[in-house]
Amino acid sequence: MHITSCLLLYLLAMNIKSRIKKNVALAPFTTFKIGGKAKFFIEVKTRNDLINAVVWAKNNGINFYILAGGSNVLINDKVINALVIKVNSKNLEVKRNIVQSGAGVVLGEVVNMAIQHNLSGLEWARGIPGTIGGAVRGNAAAFDVAIGSSIESIVVYDVVKNKFITLNNKNCRFGYKNSIVKENHSLIIWEVKLRLKKSTKKNIKNNSNKYLAIRKNHPKLPSAGCVFKNFSANYVKDNSPEIYQEAKDNKILRNKLISAGWLISRTDLPGKVVGGAQVSLQHANFIVNYNQAKAEDVIILIGLIKQKLRTEFNLQLQEEIEYIGFE
Ligand SMILES: Cc1cc2nc3c(=O)[nH]c(=O)nc-3n(C[C@H](O)[C@H](O)[C@H](O)COP(=O)(O)OP(=O)(O)OC[C@H]3O[C@@H](n4cnc5c(N)ncnc54)[C@H](O)[C@@H]3O)c2cc1C
Repeated sequence: MHITSCLLLYLLAMNIKSRIKKNVALAPFTTFKIGGKAKFFIEVKTRNDLINAVVWAKNNGINFYILAGGSNVLINDKVINALVIKVNSKNLEVKRNIVQSGAGVVLGEVVNMAIQHNLSGLEWARGIPGTIGGAVRGNAAAFDVAIGSSIESIVVYDVVKNKFITLNNKNCRFGYKNSIVKENHSLIIWEVKLRLKKSTKKNIKNNSNKYLAIRKNHPKLPSAGCVFKNFSANYVKDNSPEIYQEAKDNKILRNKLISAGWLISRTDLPGKVVGGAQVSLQHANFIVNYNQAKAEDVIILIGLIKQKLRTEFNLQLQEEIEYIGFE
């Protein structure tokens, strides 16, 4: 390698080292307002920042976690012995019906930008917290629409290959609350491209106001949204035929899914308190932090809910939220 390239790499590495903060409280970076401290923490704004942060972690034999809007995670109460990398790529531009956004842009900003440019397709996402990168990774969805349906392509950093690659929609392998990035932990989303449809501002605003109004009934206390994934209708049919029939009769079966919240609300658990955490009375798939809850409190409630659905309905819930720092 040329000597000036070596020097540049050395300077970039030194720059990252000086920007890594120590013992940073993570709770304020989450919507749950729960979590301990990160032993090491950095916000990355450029591709080089991201590469150098990952290389720093690798060279020092330290695990790393990606944190974005912190709206779908439960972070351990203890000190997280890892580098927490907060993705902060913030570019946002619109060309015709294509919106190009850094992964760290807040989803609401992307939705507002689309509305300003009379672009339709994201109205359902208004009011969902977090970033566009986090949304794409988990194929965020509501009202029977998922973000994957608007994705043209994404740029990911492949930690193993140490390079940025572009994946088209097909290669993102979107599924229910899933994508290739969720399956393959060596991928970090850096940028996303959305293809939207031209419409009128009036139509778009009416639509998005309709969805936002429904969200107004969601719990206001700190939470991470729905804790559990909904059930596949076929799984319920095989394991709990009576519940399947009831869901069908009551039009709870939608888009081949049966609401986990509906089933939890049929137990005696809504309102149940452990420490400072509570199974929400407003939306049974939410656990809320009503009084300085600890991750431990939430974990106990999650265990109780899972056990209850197994014993009462023979159904096994799966978490939608992601755990950070529990290994
Ligand atoms: C009140 C409320 C309502 C909600 N409503 C909905 C809803 O209607 N539909 C829905 O689907 N979700 C909903 N959510 C959940 C959440 O807002 C979304 O899943 C959101 O898209 C997560 O994005 P985030 O930036 O907060 O990700 P984070 O919570 O920061 O991270 C989630 C996971 O993704 C990983 N990750 C984040 N960014 C990247 C990246 N750039 N590259 C690789 N990995 C990454 C993290 O490591 C972590 O494992 C709701 C949450 C709340 C609190």
